[in-house]
Amino acid sequence: MCGVFGAFCKNGSSVLEDVYLGLYALQHRGQESAGIAWNSENGDEVNSIKGMGLVHIALDQKQLASIRANSAIGHVRYSTTGSSGLANAHPITANYSMGSVAIAHNGNITNATGIRNMLESRGAIFQSTTDTETIIHLMAHQSHKPPLDALVDALRHLKGAYSLAVLLGNRLVAARDPWGFRPLVLGRREDTTYVASESCALDIVGATLVRDLEPGEMIVIDETGIKSLRIPVQASRKYSCAFEYVYFARPDSVIDGKSVYEVRKTLGCRLANSSPCPSAEIVTGMPDSGTIAAMGFAECSKQRYETAIVRNRYIGRTFIQPTQRVRTLGVRIKLNPIKTLIDGKDLAVVDDSIVRGTTVERVISMIRQEGAARVHIRIASPPVRFPCYYGIDTPTCEELAAARLDIDALRSEVGADSLNYLGIEDLLSAIGLPPSDICTACFSGEYLDGGEDNGVDL
Ligand code: SF4
Repeated sequence: MCGVFGAFCKNGSSVLEDVYLGLYALQHRGQESAGIAWNSENGDEVNSIKGMGLVHIALDQKQLASIRANSAIGHVRYSTTGSSGLANAHPITANYSMGSVAIAHNGNITNATGIRNMLESRGAIFQSTTDTETIIHLMAHQSHKPPLDALVDALRHLKGAYSLAVLLGNRLVAARDPWGFRPLVLGRREDTTYVASESCALDIVGATLVRDLEPGEMIVIDETGIKSLRIPVQASRKYSCAFEYVYFARPDSVIDGKSVYEVRKTLGCRLANSSPCPSAEIVTGMPDSGTIAAMGFAECSKQRYETAIVRNRYIGRTFIQPTQRVRTLGVRIKLNPIKTLIDGKDLAVVDDSIVRGTTVERVISMIRQEGAARVHIRIASPPVRFPCYYGIDTPTCEELAAARLDIDALRSEVGADSLNYLGIEDLLSAIGLPPSDICTACFSGEYLDGGEDNGVDL
């Protein structure tokens, strides 16, 4: 999962500081690297600054504020394809025969390996190991076409997930794959138009949310205004990621017209109805991702809610750290239970999901050390049993706790007195979009075209 942000100002004002701020708001979507690309004033050449780590470490805000550019894109990365290194940091940039191009990508192109093999066999030399670079090479293979046509043609060959912010010369282009896996929104403030992975990034620059990009839509923004085009791919159905609502997106974002906060609260409420925990004296949430669902659970079950586990805010999310060792250390140092709330009590602990099972096991152990009498785990989504091929780091079934074990064996492994999950039907109805528009593949195994797909049609 990554975050993209783009800005174009019609009156020529510089937008680099806005892009920096937008990335700041999207930091939860990627913490490995950050980058910003902009065009020279005549649009002939693309420039970029990239760095490893969090936005404020990777990028120099003062330096960016001093650069004049009326269109720019930015990216925060967490790797799903290609290693975590500066060569793979986005935006991916190139100056080719038809002009300059910079691409910031959220998602995972499932047939990128096949495309890359094909292009390399024809002499292409790749600079990075990212799936995104295939787009630039596909464009370069259409160098007789104007850049926008070459981009449309490149996208026509892709399968899987891509929400893109692209600079083509002085134009800002945004594109959402025909299945709509990852969110992408359009916003505006006076003469400046923005595109962003989530609406929370529009709030920080004082822009209003205009609308979501439609799956399969490409938007071209330049001095003449905004044009909407279609990517010429017929999708059999939409696949908007259910996990964005469950975990990834910020609760203050609105995706495809649905408030993430409201969805999370409803998930908790439905969980309270389907898997009540009447013996619990306190309902608490696994911070931060389970907190809102826990509030919904407590509200619907009319039980007492307490913030019984406190999170150190200055530690990143464990789930999106790249190695198991860092994940394990992260859990140990980031959460702390409050003994006076827990000692001698029956607790219902609500979390958004169990992926590897590391966090829940350690938290239960910590809670027991603080004297909890019984610990009941309630999960506000279905068991994650299948890997995601669309831009989330759940690579193999062996790493997924619910794929390795049935629910009772998992309960025993994590040390809970009871463990219950939300059903898929409840998840879909809490999101509130038509079920046929939602991807639930990591819960159900129902992938687009059977899952990982290296099919190439060049
Ligand atoms: S497989 Fe899961 S995480 Fe991946 S896009 Fe589908 S719902 Fe989202």
